[in-house]
Amino acid sequence: ARAEQGYRDRTPQSATAQARAARVMPGGNTRSSLWAAPYPLSITSGSGCRITDADGHEYVDFLGEFTAGIFGHTCPALERALTEAHRGGFGLSSHTPYEADLAEELAARFPSIDLLRFANSGTEANLMALTAARLVTGRDRIVVFAGGYHGGVLTFGAGNAPVNIPFEFAVLPYNDLQAVAQEFAAAGDRIAAVLVEPMQGAGGCVVGTPAFLQGLRTLCDDSGALLIFDEVQTARMAPGGAQERLGITPDMTTLGKIFGGGLAFGAFGGKAEVMARFDPSHPEAIPHAGTFNNNRLTMAAGLEAVRHHLTPGALEALFERGEVFREALNARFSAQGGAFHVTGMGSIMNIHAVAEDPAVRRDRLRLLHFHMMERGYYFAARGLIALSFPLGEAERADFLDTLDTVLAAGRASSEF
Ligand code: PLP
Repeated sequence: ARAEQGYRDRTPQSATAQARAARVMPGGNTRSSLWAAPYPLSITSGSGCRITDADGHEYVDFLGEFTAGIFGHTCPALERALTEAHRGGFGLSSHTPYEADLAEELAARFPSIDLLRFANSGTEANLMALTAARLVTGRDRIVVFAGGYHGGVLTFGAGNAPVNIPFEFAVLPYNDLQAVAQEFAAAGDRIAAVLVEPMQGAGGCVVGTPAFLQGLRTLCDDSGALLIFDEVQTARMAPGGAQERLGITPDMTTLGKIFGGGLAFGAFGGKAEVMARFDPSHPEAIPHAGTFNNNRLTMAAGLEAVRHHLTPGALEALFERGEVFREALNARFSAQGGAFHVTGMGSIMNIHAVAEDPAVRRDRLRLLHFHMMERGYYFAARGLIALSFPLGEAERADFLDTLDTVLAAGRASSEF
């Protein structure tokens, strides 16, 4: 309560902004994941890896737009690309060369993608991939995993309202290959697809084991179901995504976030025989329209991002930086009594409080979050951290030192 009061005292303008916004938007904004009691910060500007709230406090941004903000908040090259595309005219009621350029770049990176199409979000990309799997296989059942998050209407976390869209889902435990094998033994001829994140992102950065993911590949091969990797978050782990690191080729891959260069983006692709069904001249064409699917600004920003920023070298370096940072965090947490630990892969990770009681875990993480925000560090209330390119060595080192101070103070006062 004291930490929350401190937060309220420091951020009156955010409280005012929330109250105003909540009069016209339930919850005060349009992204459920932003919500954290008593109210989320109202952020008014950003530059590089820093953001400023409505009360003028500056924070080092360790959240990076829930993994989409890999470029930081100001990127001169992206600004140039967007300005150029804007000057050339947008909303041209057709397709433009940027679209095929970006499609070529992505198909070249992902061996699982012969053909692909663009959408406006990762959610849409997953909905279209599931639609394709159902129509191509002529089956209805979709295997997904508890804790999985594939978009607003495709969320399988505990406590979420059941998904009410026309798919039949079998929600199984993640990393439990035996449960999936049992499902296939019982209903294999009805399973159209297995939709899986190589690492559950929103589920708390739970890494899929290679044996589990490889086992899914084998079960799908044996039964004719399509294996769909949702790489909306994990695509940054290597030029060809987590699937490249794992050496597993799914039948379909869904993408989002970073490949739009910071703008709204989604893509889904896969084997030619599946994706060819989206060709409108196909006798059994699957319709996939969308006014903004190929909007020129996103295509231009995505192209600039892929060609000049998401280079193999840059992605490798970011992955390594993330591995080192996660290990350093865990080292600090264990040295300070083990009240927290971090899971993740490369530059995406999640801090978890360690305690038997879920209420203690929640309060402890909340306290850590308040204390770090008070000292100028921003990450998700649920513990998510996603490193961006501009987040430097100095910022990471300062974060670790600040964490040490916070943990030591928390231990001294028996908070942690
Ligand atoms: N899939 C995963 C793994 C995600 O993390 C997200 C978003 O966080 C989505 C899909 C949905 O993408 P979008 O928010 O662009 O709809």
